Amino acid sequence: MKIQDYIQKEDQFGAHNYHPLPVVLDRGEGVYVWDVEGKRYFDFLSAYSAVNQGHCHPDILSALIDQSKKLTLTSRAFYSSALGEYEEYITKYFAYDKVLPMNTGAEGDETALKLCRKWGYLKKGIPENEAKIIVCEGNFHGRTITVISMSTDPDSYKGFGPFTPGFVTIPYDDIAALEEALEDKNVAGFLVEPIQGEAGVYVPEEGYLKKAYNLCKKNNVLFIADEVQTGIARTGSLLACDHEEVRPDILILGKALSGGFYPISAVLADDDIMLCIKPGEHGSTFGGNPVAAKVATAALEVIRKENLAENASKMGEIFRNELSKIKSDRIELIRGKGLLNAVIIKPKDGQTAWDVCIAMKDNGLIAKPTHQHIIRFAPPLVINEEQILEASKIIRDTIESM
Ligand code: PLP
Repeated sequence: MKIQDYIQKEDQFGAHNYHPLPVVLDRGEGVYVWDVEGKRYFDFLSAYSAVNQGHCHPDILSALIDQSKKLTLTSRAFYSSALGEYEEYITKYFAYDKVLPMNTGAEGDETALKLCRKWGYLKKGIPENEAKIIVCEGNFHGRTITVISMSTDPDSYKGFGPFTPGFVTIPYDDIAALEEALEDKNVAGFLVEPIQGEAGVYVPEEGYLKKAYNLCKKNNVLFIADEVQTGIARTGSLLACDHEEVRPDILILGKALSGGFYPISAVLADDDIMLCIKPGEHGSTFGGNPVAAKVATAALEVIRKENLAENASKMGEIFRNELSKIKSDRIELIRGKGLLNAVIIKPKDGQTAWDVCIAMKDNGLIAKPTHQHIIRFAPPLVINEEQILEASKIIRDTIESM
């Protein structure tokens, strides 16, 4: 089959809910992927930051294979020999009392919202069905009905109503707005991405998270961090909240928790919050299954063993420095932290960020626009200096030649 045949098949038989770059991938290793014709690319999306450990990491692969031969799924109707060990590992790793294992990022967010509301009723004494959760403009927390009920992006919510009530939306990176919204006694939580990834890698002003956390504490409101995209070393520290020494009351993780092998998400909190949910009140057939337990443990071990947070920090500095040397009026702004970066492209002669991505693909590097004019650059965190320089040169040459 030719590249066009693969694309045509997806077009014909798959729902049209994505608009992929016209590249058909067949194989991956480390920072590279290969298409069906054997052409190699730098992967600068990393499956939206799920492949932080690099494609097909051998340690995670072994964990997946070994456990798959033994026992794959028990459901939570029974105990398993793998789950408790994983729960101990991940709670110690992130220093929380307990974990609630789920599968996708959106499910992680849904779980956090339920947990927060329950805490609001049981611990804060909010009248039944009156709990509110503050969220930010430009947020992205996934695609379920409740999650899109928080969205301010028409592409996410338009045509999918009616929506779940109970959310108060304030501008991102706006402490005064948060302070005002917190005056409502029925607010149970504040849900925030430490850096807004899908919105276009919006990095808030330094000190924002710390101030927001302190305000939440003052008002007896839970600070909930969605680190599905920013977490697990992506921004140059284990969690993006670590940059400001903020410890969220509820922490949501996903994506790289599996190193890209498997949908694994997790919600972490201390007993006072987590034990608000009782048996039968929340769950998932696959959440916490034995394969996920082993895969997530291996994925987290790789992050630590290979010092990926430190590497993301160093390589991120080099990357932004290299991009700043690009001589082109097409670039409006470069921003990011660690290896979560974005370039804002000025449209010119009818060419948009999409056209830049197509040209980069032809030159051996794949990345994806988010919104019309922003390109996110998020390679696997195992990238080394030589590779980041080579990739930066591809980006530079592409943009300068357009
Ligand atoms: N939360 C954030 C911050 C995300 O970036 C994403 C996905 O991009 C999600 C949640 C949803 O994750 P999933 O696609 O696994 O449901």
